[in-house]
Amino acid sequence: MTESTTHPFTNGSVPAARGANADDEPETGITPGGTQGAFRDVLSKDHARRAKAPTHFADMDREERIEAAKAIGLPKFRVDQLARHYYAHFETDVESFTDFPQASREAARHAFFPRLIDEELVQTADNGTTRKTLWKLFDGSRIESVLMKYPSRITLCISSQVGCGMGCPFCATGHLGLTRNLSCGEILEQVRCAANASAGGVFGEPDRLSNVVFMGMGEPMGNYRSVVRAIRQICGEPPTGFGISARNITVSTVGVVPGIRKLIDEKIPVRLAVSLHAPNDELRSTLVPMNKRFNIEQVLDAAHDYYLSSHRRVSIEYALMRGINDQPEHARQLARRLNHYGDDWVHVNPIPLNPIEGSPWTASKPEDEAAFLDILHHAGITATLRDTRGSDIDGACGQLAARHVADQVMGDSGAKGRSGAPRE
Ligand code: SF4
Repeated sequence: MTESTTHPFTNGSVPAARGANADDEPETGITPGGTQGAFRDVLSKDHARRAKAPTHFADMDREERIEAAKAIGLPKFRVDQLARHYYAHFETDVESFTDFPQASREAARHAFFPRLIDEELVQTADNGTTRKTLWKLFDGSRIESVLMKYPSRITLCISSQVGCGMGCPFCATGHLGLTRNLSCGEILEQVRCAANASAGGVFGEPDRLSNVVFMGMGEPMGNYRSVVRAIRQICGEPPTGFGISARNITVSTVGVVPGIRKLIDEKIPVRLAVSLHAPNDELRSTLVPMNKRFNIEQVLDAAHDYYLSSHRRVSIEYALMRGINDQPEHARQLARRLNHYGDDWVHVNPIPLNPIEGSPWTASKPEDEAAFLDILHHAGITATLRDTRGSDIDGACGQLAARHVADQVMGDSGAKGRSGAPRE
């Protein structure tokens, strides 16, 4: 990790119960700097009062780990040993570390590896190539992640928040609101478990987790600090990270412009995905409330600046909703807006909206999807219609983290959530 924030340990004891996001700044649940920004009010009021996850190895930088090791009488080389177990072998069961002194294993487990996520349910689809896992967190909250096997890669879609505060009306996760941000450790544990499962042959042969997309529950820019800390550990080489190329990491946002601009400054070449969903402000404001704060021009300006600085093409995610945003005029408007910035800087990913029970928003007709794509292609824009893997287990876009969380928060109302944005 490259951050060097210091976390005071009370009485020099093991910091097992310290909040994972503790920092000099008060934890408001808002992106640092966001208290002066414009989107505080869309975040749940309860958020700041929520308990924080226990501090995990992944929440600490090297100096903090050394301090925590010292507090239980371990020399600093033991920290590097733990890092190798964690990042290179995806292991957290200190009791099984035969290269670790038996007498210190329990203390080390307690100090570094509190259990943050517990597998509650696994569902598979697409002939076993899509696996959705429901995780129960330390406070009873639930999140989901989806692991997908493709011919040349394994992609994990992860959550960054419990719920979402962005309030998009076609999305039941938005209706649920934000429960809390995930800690960096809770985000990283989704990755470690998936890497471990892949290496263990969950799809047959042992394989390597190659791609991570922040498109599960939540708005990653609403949990900026933990998300960036997690990204640095996903792409760091073992023993400082899992060794997944930054180029294979995608961060999706609904258009939180200050977050995009901060990400530019991080200079980590992750792919940025922007959930646009509409080509004009009037329509987008009805689908994405955040548009009233940061309009399309501001969002695309920031996205284009991200492209200029990262040299990575930006993904534009566009959920096609029947009769709402999927007509030829919408495609033409979208093409005009994107071409305004020049050629070849975006890749548009239209995806049919997954049907959501009781909602007026439904998937486009196939012929409308085809016409939409044609217009973009004729305008010189790269565009690929995305698949909807996992739709039969509520694991596709618009459905992720659905029933269980909805049931938990709202009772058995039949409401269904969605992932943060269309995924690969
Ligand atoms: S669509 Fe995405 S950003 Fe909007 S409420 Fe749902 S999860 Fe949040």
